[in-house]
Amino acid sequence: MDCAARKLYAAVAILALLLSPGCLGFHSRQQQPAELKEFKETVIAMDTLVTIALYVPSEEKAHKVFSEVRNELQRLEGILSAHQPGSDVIAISAAAGKEPVKVSPETLHVVQTALQYAHITQGAFDITVAPVLRLYNFDTNNPVRPSVRELERTLPLVDWRKVHVDEAQGTVFLSAEGMELDLGGVAKGYITDAAAEILLKNGVEFGSVNAGGDIRLLGPKPDGNPWRVGIKDPVNPGANNWFAIVEVRGGALVTSGDYERAFVEDGVRWHHIIDPASGLPASGASSVTVLAPTAEIADILSTALFVLGPEKGLELVESLPETEALIWARGEVFWSSGLIPQEGRGDVFYFTVKDK
Ligand code: AMP
Ligand code: MG
Repeated sequence: MDCAARKLYAAVAILALLLSPGCLGFHSRQQQPAELKEFKETVIAMDTLVTIALYVPSEEKAHKVFSEVRNELQRLEGILSAHQPGSDVIAISAAAGKEPVKVSPETLHVVQTALQYAHITQGAFDITVAPVLRLYNFDTNNPVRPSVRELERTLPLVDWRKVHVDEAQGTVFLSAEGMELDLGGVAKGYITDAAAEILLKNGVEFGSVNAGGDIRLLGPKPDGNPWRVGIKDPVNPGANNWFAIVEVRGGALVTSGDYERAFVEDGVRWHHIIDPASGLPASGASSVTVLAPTAEIADILSTALFVLGPEKGLELVESLPETEALIWARGEVFWSSGLIPQEGRGDVFYFTVKDK
C-alpha cells in the first residue's frame, strides 16, 4: 500500500523508544560477536535524558567513550541552550534588532540548516516561533491560551526571513527587535548526531543514542538483527504502550508528539508545536515520526510535518532521498512509500524499511 492511510483500531499515542528483541518475544537469528559487550549510560543535556548504548570489547573503552560524549554534550549545551547564560542562542536573541552576533561554527551550522528547511517547508519550520510560544507559558505550571490580540501583536516577530547569517563573518542577526531564536525543534537531533559522531570517531560500529525520542543508530545490532523502535501512544504515553514498531538498520528516527508540553481546554489539545502562520498549536497531526540519515534532519522534519499535516508532509518526504515518515493524524495512520507494513504482527502496525 503506497502512501496508505489506514484506520487505527486501538487507542493511539507516541514517543519513540528502543526495544530489545525480548520485549516482543522475538529471538536473535544470529550471534553477537563474543568479544563485544553492551554498555549503557544516561547523561542529561538540553533538559533531556540522553541514553547511549554501545557494544565494545571492554569497560575501559566504554568509559572513555561515555566521558567524551558527556564533555561534548555539555559543551554543545553551553552554546545552543536557550536557558544557559552565555549561550550563542541567548546572545543572538539579546542583540535582536541591534547587531549581528559572532557565534560558534556549530551554531552557524544549525541555524543555516534550519533556514534551509524553513525554505523547503515554506515556513512550516521556523526557528523564530519563541515570542509566540512564550505566550502559552508552557515552561511554567500554569500554561494558558493567549488572547487573539496578544497573538496578533506578537506574530509579526515570527519570520525566518528576518534571520540573517553571514557565513564569512560567522555571525547571526535577527533583524527586528523583540525577535528570539528557538532551536528547540532541531537542537536535540543535532546533539544526538554529535554523540553518535563521538562513537564513530572511537571506532564503535554498533550502538545507539536516544535523546528523549530522537534516536540515531549505528549499524544494525551486533548480531545482525535490526533495531526495533516502538512508537508510543500519545494519549497514554506510559511505558511500553506503542501503536507501531519500525525495524531499522541504522540512520535516525525522531518522533514529535502533541502530548509533550500540552494541556487540554475546550476539547482542544494546546501544545508546543506552533503553526507559524497562525500562532496556534499545529493541528496537522498528533504524532509524526521521521526516518532520515541524520537525527538533525529527522528532528527538523518531524516538527515541520506536524505543521504541514499528512498530505503535504508525505509529498515533501517522497521528494527527499532516504527519508520516510509515519504520521498519526485525524484518527488515521499515514506512511511514506519506503515503509513496508508487515502482516500478522498483532494489534500494532509493524514496518520494515524498503531497501533502496
Ligand atoms: P519537537 O519536539 O522536535 O517537535 O520540537 C518542538 C519544539 O520546537 C518546541 O518546543 C519549540 O521550541 C520549537 N518549535 C515549535 N514550533 C515550531 C515550528 N513551527 N518550527 C520550528 N520550531 C518549532
Ligand atoms: Mg523536531
